[in-house]
Amino acid sequence: MIRMRTPASWVVVGLDNGGTTNNSTVLDATGQYLVDKLVETPSLVHEGPDVAVESLATAFDAILAATGTARTLVRAVGLDTPGPASADGVISSKGSTNFSQAAWHGFDIRGALEKRLGLPVIYTNDANAAALYAHYAHFGAEATARSSVSAIVGTGLGGGVIEHGQVITGAAGMAGELGHVHIPLHGLLEPDQPVPVCNCGFEGDAESVASLTGIARNLLPYWLTRFPDHELTRVEPIGKAAKLLRGYGEHGDPLARAVFRQQAIALGRLFTIAANFIDPTGYFVGGGVVEAAPEFRDWFLTTVREHTFLRDEQARAASFALVRDLDMAGARGAAVSALSFLHTSSTSA
Ligand SMILES: [Zn+2]
Repeated sequence: MIRMRTPASWVVVGLDNGGTTNNSTVLDATGQYLVDKLVETPSLVHEGPDVAVESLATAFDAILAATGTARTLVRAVGLDTPGPASADGVISSKGSTNFSQAAWHGFDIRGALEKRLGLPVIYTNDANAAALYAHYAHFGAEATARSSVSAIVGTGLGGGVIEHGQVITGAAGMAGELGHVHIPLHGLLEPDQPVPVCNCGFEGDAESVASLTGIARNLLPYWLTRFPDHELTRVEPIGKAAKLLRGYGEHGDPLARAVFRQQAIALGRLFTIAANFIDPTGYFVGGGVVEAAPEFRDWFLTTVREHTFLRDEQARAASFALVRDLDMAGARGAAVSALSFLHTSSTSA
């Protein structure tokens, strides 16, 4: 059962556009979400931009109806999609996994939705939306005075950098691509372990180790040679074995722990770079590992922390946390970006 609140003020709507569903939420001006669960409708992105924009409009109408919110209370809409896309929501000219049809290439999804709804639409990529949600969920009322870095371990390694409560987007919308930051490998790899390679072409970046792809492509093939009698040597293809690995890790399996230990060290080294680059208050970790059994989850975060080298002053100021409710993070982060856009434009006007 979804708990609903009625709005206490004007609101923003957050729409998270995924490969199969749109998730939506409503956030009021006091920072309260009007729904505490996922509200999903079909995204139909594979039917092309026209159908998909109409589906976003349907999701918008549905969440207003479900929360009893009058349309006249909505001041802006936050939209997030998977990338690559520009900082203002133009899908890459090469398309992407979710936007493979030719009609999507170079399509301005933000502008199209803004035109369809007749309301300002603020765009964020899904990784940055999750980082924004993590930041506001952790810091609450202090969010606009704090900075953070979030690393979300999934198929790839996503995340984002938040400064004073705002996403750092960069000149081309490509800031916070944490996965493709090179990390030192000395002491992380075993002496006879091949240097991991990333889908982006880099060797030894964070994603080449700390992602599901990194497990399947780099870590697991090596570690299976160290555990030749392991059950997973008989699982084909390797991508399937990689997905099963977390379950083994939860039960303390030495091979799985060796792989996840390397991932945690990689995140620690990435955070060490972040510490010297932006010196954030918050270091957040999300992804499949957060959904795991508490002992495993806590061991993973502790290992990340042990390998994040902070100066004493930094260590006193820093907080490490897991990103929870990741399934709602996109819609909620998108809503936060819309709310913060309105707050910023009203104070600077
Ligand atoms: Zn890469």
